[in-house]
Amino acid sequence: MAQLEDVFKKLVSHCKEYGFIYQSSEIYDGLSAVYDYGPYGVELKNNIKTYWWKSMVQLNENIVGIDSAIFMHPKIWKASGHVDAFNDPLVDNKDSKKRYRADTLIEDAISKIEAKAEKEVEKAKTRFGESFDEQLYRTTNPRVVEYLSKAKEINDRLNSAMTNNNMEELKQIILDLEIADPDSGSRNWTDVRQFNLMFNTQLGNIAGEEGKLYLRPETAQGIFVNFLNVQKTTRQKIPFGIAQIGKAFRNEIVARQFIFRMREFEQMEMQFFVKPGSELQWYEHWKNTRMKWHLALGTPAEKLRFHNHENLAHYANAAVDIQYDFPFGFKELEGIHSRTDFDLKSHQELSGKKLQYFDTEDNESYIPYVVETSIGCDRMFLTILSQAYHEEMVPDAEGGEAQRIVLKLHPALAPVKCAVLPLLKNKPELVEKAKSVMSMLTSSFICTYDDKDAIGRRYRRQDALGTPCCITIDFETLENNTVTIRDRDTLVQERISIEEIERIIENKVSWKNLLS
Ligand code: ATP
Repeated sequence: MAQLEDVFKKLVSHCKEYGFIYQSSEIYDGLSAVYDYGPYGVELKNNIKTYWWKSMVQLNENIVGIDSAIFMHPKIWKASGHVDAFNDPLVDNKDSKKRYRADTLIEDAISKIEAKAEKEVEKAKTRFGESFDEQLYRTTNPRVVEYLSKAKEINDRLNSAMTNNNMEELKQIILDLEIADPDSGSRNWTDVRQFNLMFNTQLGNIAGEEGKLYLRPETAQGIFVNFLNVQKTTRQKIPFGIAQIGKAFRNEIVARQFIFRMREFEQMEMQFFVKPGSELQWYEHWKNTRMKWHLALGTPAEKLRFHNHENLAHYANAAVDIQYDFPFGFKELEGIHSRTDFDLKSHQELSGKKLQYFDTEDNESYIPYVVETSIGCDRMFLTILSQAYHEEMVPDAEGGEAQRIVLKLHPALAPVKCAVLPLLKNKPELVEKAKSVMSMLTSSFICTYDDKDAIGRRYRRQDALGTPCCITIDFETLENNTVTIRDRDTLVQERISIEEIERIIENKVSWKNLLS
């Protein structure tokens, strides 16, 4: 665990050092859980969004995109249930004055008990070797059985308390488990109470409640309220989807773990409108399609898993998370939810406007059911970086070995596609040639030109940014118009002619490699 925390710390400092992510308002000591993306971060983030948009909108004839406003009529948040139920249970420690989410404290306690069971299983695995029957051991070893059934019992209590909004029971679980403040060790807790996560603000020209506006806590509602506009203007037939990428805001109680939990973040959401009764089929379809989207990036299957929701939200009849094994454990990366007709029905009721679809095949009108896929762009960014970050030993120029940090990003996502490097900066003929190669490539790719320091150091800098190709202009270039192209991952350098550069890079970084 300590090792993983170490990796996470390195990742965070790498993001800052190489211009991926900065703390917001850093010169004023920062604003908690708000981050700014730097020059390489914004490129990578845009590429993540492009990958999602192309997969959703470009590859599916029956999915179209929109970009709705962040501000919406406040009644939308009443209809969606956010005003009344978008709460997290919070608890304060009276001694440390620290604030926590009660459900998270309990979940962490459950994970600790499960970890004890896993430790027993691991010990037995080494003890019994090849003959070890893990399944049998898990169901018969008294200690393992005790740990697992205790974890399940607490989990059931937690789910029931969350479903029934039972704050007293949450407090009781904390007391029963003797959960201590992870920071101070104190067990002196306040009562648990609900905390609404929406930020609000005020319209300038209307005073009081009437003028109260919310910063949207999800992009989905902008899709729901535009459902008929989009359907009519694009003449889509059910099943069809609407996709949107945009900012969302949540006043998270505990905002830790870097860009995993932010107060301002970006979502990539798609609502798929289907005929009532077919939603669970579509739910399975999107579950599998979204998992494939993640796997196509090269993320190993064992680092991703489905996690079914036991504690279903008020609007859902099935829900699953795709979790990624972050440096701090498996956590939600994306949610796939079968949202029934809850949202459209509520908007129809509160607005008094019909939100129905006329099915010409069946000659009937109905409110469609909805299957949603919802992923945080920033969490995806963290996933990709966690997966890409490597420290490794590579041969150095003197025949020895040197350590390098390399981001093994999928080339289509890499912020910079190619670096153009003149071997020496004090040779005008090399510089001139390098500049001409650079200007040949800049209309096709994001390229960078670097002539500072020895060539080995320049390669290291590009490795740390995840640049897939480095083009070096040397004396041979001047003789025969060839350059070397170095591959970030294999370190192999090939000599190619200048005319071939564009095609070779294009082959490597093309979206086709990901989308097909
Ligand atoms: P969590 O349980 O981690 O708070 P959630 O279940 O509330 O997440 P959803 O409402 O399903 O999340 O939002 C969809 C996606 O938006 C999540 O899977 C996640 O990737 C992203 N997301 C949600 N909250 C945040 C946040 N505070 N910071 C960054 N991304 C977030």
